[in-house]
Amino acid sequence: GAYLQAIENANEALNAYIVTTPEKALEMAKASDARLAAGNGGALEGIPLGIKDLFGTEGVHTQAASHILDGFKPHYESTVTANLWADGAVMLGKLNMDEFAMGSSNESSYYGPVKNPWRAKGSNVDLVPGGSSGGSAAAVAARLCAGATATDTGGSIRQPAAFTGTVGIKPTYGRCSRWGIVAFASSLDQAGPIARDVRDAAILLRSMASVDAKDTTSVDIAVPDYEAVIGKPLAGIKIGIPKEYRVDGMPEEIEKLWQQGISWLKDAGATIVDISLPHTKYALPAYYIVAPAEASSNLARYDGVRYGLRVPGKDIVDMYENTRAKGFGEEVKRRIMIGTYVLSAGYYDAYYLQAQKVRTLIKKDFEDAFHAGVDAILTPATPSAAFGIADQEMNSDPVKMYLNDIFTVTVNMAGLPGIAVPAGLDSRGLPLGLQLIGRPFDEETLFQTAYVIE
Ligand code: GLN
Repeated sequence: GAYLQAIENANEALNAYIVTTPEKALEMAKASDARLAAGNGGALEGIPLGIKDLFGTEGVHTQAASHILDGFKPHYESTVTANLWADGAVMLGKLNMDEFAMGSSNESSYYGPVKNPWRAKGSNVDLVPGGSSGGSAAAVAARLCAGATATDTGGSIRQPAAFTGTVGIKPTYGRCSRWGIVAFASSLDQAGPIARDVRDAAILLRSMASVDAKDTTSVDIAVPDYEAVIGKPLAGIKIGIPKEYRVDGMPEEIEKLWQQGISWLKDAGATIVDISLPHTKYALPAYYIVAPAEASSNLARYDGVRYGLRVPGKDIVDMYENTRAKGFGEEVKRRIMIGTYVLSAGYYDAYYLQAQKVRTLIKKDFEDAFHAGVDAILTPATPSAAFGIADQEMNSDPVKMYLNDIFTVTVNMAGLPGIAVPAGLDSRGLPLGLQLIGRPFDEETLFQTAYVIE
């Protein structure tokens, strides 16, 4: 009830929720109360959550914040949300995001931008919450839900978490089922939580994760009790500091934050070692080939026949064209064009195949570091704090926007787990985050080390 009231008061200003589901929330809360009274409550009994609009929710608005999915209400429930409901969580509504999860500022949504609840000291400029899970991050930061689901293809959980002072974890590829989540780039997409603190993120991820026969890339490795590692000392843990993440033009404040994080981990008993991840600089360009290539293929299904919007034409091909021309936004069209170009005969070897080779090298860099005994890697989460909505510089050049992902995409390319944790404020009073990257399926070490930083 209190959350529904808070949403009513604040959502118009923030635009974090696209739709709310108050009746469903009350009905689920009632069922939850009954289970608790009967003494058979689940791990998340009665916890009110916001759900990113990318997750299929049965009978409820699921449009990936796109015009092309107008009116789409799936007849299925994604595995991740089904897992949450099975543990007793309550759905408050669907959260805003960049259209089809393509973006770093939540400005590509058909439903308009989300406002970051944070502002710089003494300023009245509205800031972006980051993207693509901007609605999830803003709703958690503004207390419009107790936690939220999000997805991360190239940073979309960790960058918005960093911009809003919240915690976001992208688990290992395969930890959560992708079934029932609108696909962007299938070899990179992973679901994870955005939460107020490390403990909440640990509790939520445990519930979201599962092996699933409906997603053959989900992996059958037991999901540990992540909460159990919180507060454990860091003795025996080795943290790698990759020199390649010290990029040109990185603000001094970010460098200082990084140093601060290093000393916190050292004080908690960790050993710090310098490492090298030599192929880091190729990650961003390779990502912006692989992700659009897969997106162009995944988005071919939106043709005006099967889902949502249909714009009539003189014949079926004309109808396809009209629907896609009207239904997709500018950024989505850009990705489809890049994707079809890099996959086309004659260019495939030069772009897509090359990018896949780079991807293997990036993965090997991390494997070498882990073989040398490193347990986790500490980096900044983003190269800057949140920027303004409709920022001239960011919006004049798509590549500038893509640079937001410079510290996060490597992790998706290698399929590794990564967590963003709030680590302090910049001189304008805006939150900054650090990132910890772990071994495959070792989310535990990330929760353990991130807890020391938050
Ligand atoms: N900003 C990146 C992109 O636009 C990441 C998106 C994501 O992780 N979903 O592709």
